[in-house]
Amino acid sequence: MLRILFAWLVIVCFCQTANAANFNDPQSMLSLDSDVVFAVSNSAELTGDEQWFYSADVIERSPSQYLHFKVRVYNQLDTQVPVWFSISFPAIKRLTVTDGTKRWVTGDSLPFSSRPVNAPNYHFPSILPPSAYTEFSGTMTGEILRYSFSVATPEYYSNLYMKTLQRDMAFFGAMGLLTVLCTLGFIASRNLVFLSFASFIFTITFWFFRVFGYAFELLWPNTPSLNDISYAVSIYSVLITAFWVLFQTLARDNHEVYGAKPVKRFCAILPFMGILLWQSVGLDSALKLPVILFFPYILIAALVIFVEHKRGSDRAKWLAAAMLPLTFSTLVLTVIALFEVEVYLEPIATFMTGLVMTCLFMVALTANYMVKVVQRERDAQKEAAQLKSEQTFRLEALVKERTLALEQTNSALAVLASKDSLTELPNRRTLDLFVDDTFDKTIHDHEALAIALIDLDHFKSINDTFGHNVGDEVLKGIANILAPLNNEDQVAARYGGEEFAIAKRVTQPNGNQSSEAEEFAKQLEIVHCAINQLAIASIDDRKLGACIGWTLCKGSDDIVEAFRRADKALYLAKDKGRNLIIPAL
Ligand code: GH3
Ligand code: MG
Ligand code: MG
Repeated sequence: MLRILFAWLVIVCFCQTANAANFNDPQSMLSLDSDVVFAVSNSAELTGDEQWFYSADVIERSPSQYLHFKVRVYNQLDTQVPVWFSISFPAIKRLTVTDGTKRWVTGDSLPFSSRPVNAPNYHFPSILPPSAYTEFSGTMTGEILRYSFSVATPEYYSNLYMKTLQRDMAFFGAMGLLTVLCTLGFIASRNLVFLSFASFIFTITFWFFRVFGYAFELLWPNTPSLNDISYAVSIYSVLITAFWVLFQTLARDNHEVYGAKPVKRFCAILPFMGILLWQSVGLDSALKLPVILFFPYILIAALVIFVEHKRGSDRAKWLAAAMLPLTFSTLVLTVIALFEVEVYLEPIATFMTGLVMTCLFMVALTANYMVKVVQRERDAQKEAAQLKSEQTFRLEALVKERTLALEQTNSALAVLASKDSLTELPNRRTLDLFVDDTFDKTIHDHEALAIALIDLDHFKSINDTFGHNVGDEVLKGIANILAPLNNEDQVAARYGGEEFAIAKRVTQPNGNQSSEAEEFAKQLEIVHCAINQLAIASIDDRKLGACIGWTLCKGSDDIVEAFRRADKALYLAKDKGRNLIIPAL
């Protein structure tokens, strides 16, 4: 589809060459063949010495000199024909025309109101007499880049302008739509690239349609040179916007586009340069400046795009492709205009081709960009989701790990809190907990708790004689005897200092001392015996003695009272000469 459109535009562009014969002859009955002659002079009046030529191309003249012309229009009909004698193409500063009866004075340097017909180009209404000719003559001053004479009926011109207007409006509408699309792109993405495209298309459309000119004409119909001013405003705007598009399209986050600063500064002063030039040297020179600047613009743009492409900008090649058609068509037009090259390209079609191609590329660029943005957003979302699940997974694993470590620490702490650090026997706290637990459960008469308190004899003297370390060794030796006693029903603990305690759950059927209590007594004897036999080299195998006082605490008894009883028995043993086991039943 795109290729077909492009091919069609190229065909239209190159086939619509400007009419070399300067005459529109709708009825084949009007003719100005070979009857156009030109002469140059320094004054508006002819002296009679002028040399007349059939083509103005062979004449050398400066813009201030007068180009005289004489055009004969033949009417082969035997009725009179109303016609518009027409001269087209801008840059005619001052134009005087007469048909022998009427005289008109107009030109670009005069207000629009000076034109006899309010339509594009210059039209001079006249009536051709039957089977005769009318001579239109006059003078032109100014640049006069290209000119074209034509003559046709007013209806012919009206139809022509109507058709042109329809074409222009369709084109204008398409450009307007593109502008709106790009603006919407900007609103949706907040990316200045779209806004720059929008303004570029808008400005260039204004330039192309001379909308400024029409607006000025409506607002200030009596102001001269409005055509030139509007042209200047448009082309300056186009140049500045073209630079803006260039730099905005290449702009990326945290990235300075090559050459952006000096060009931005230059663009900021460009309008002032134009005004200065206008006021000092004249509007013609001010008009030429942006046209001439278009060449360095292309060079700078090419350089910037090249450098940015080397720096890895994927937008650079797109931009280069987008700029190509408009650059090319504008360049062709500028070359034709500046150097008066005789290439009869239809300027509007050439320019339109370039503009349409540019806009198509820009839309393609925008679409490509949009797709990338959406893709990037999707990728980012996917990545974020993945990251989140990964984080959750990692967090869960971490929580598990920490919980395990905490549990391990807690159990280590629980062990530390329940054991005596020197002997590694259960400590007093563990014993108390066991006693409380057992005592809580010991609710039946046939159940009881056996409690024994053990105190080493003359332990202080061991410390005093052999040192504290040796005392510790002795305590560990005692612990070795007591440690195996620990099980579900019995706790043998270090009670404090050189005192130890044993608590054991026992059954006591029918209020009598059970075999289990007897077993407890026997166990105490074994322990006592083991203490007596404990041989520790550091104390020269000195015999160790210990007093043991024990008792039974039944379900209804007071546990504190039971401990006191055992303690009393222990002291009784001390009193009775030590190294004794005394029960308090
Ligand atoms: P008695 O026969 O009347 O019980 O005399 P004793 O010397 O055994 O009793 P006393 O209560 O006078 O002395 C207990 C000593 O135990 C005092 C203290 O220095 C010692 N001791 C307490 N805890 C430790 C310990 O952890 N290590 C060592 N080496 N000695 C300790
Ligand atoms: Mg003691
Ligand atoms: Mg003691």
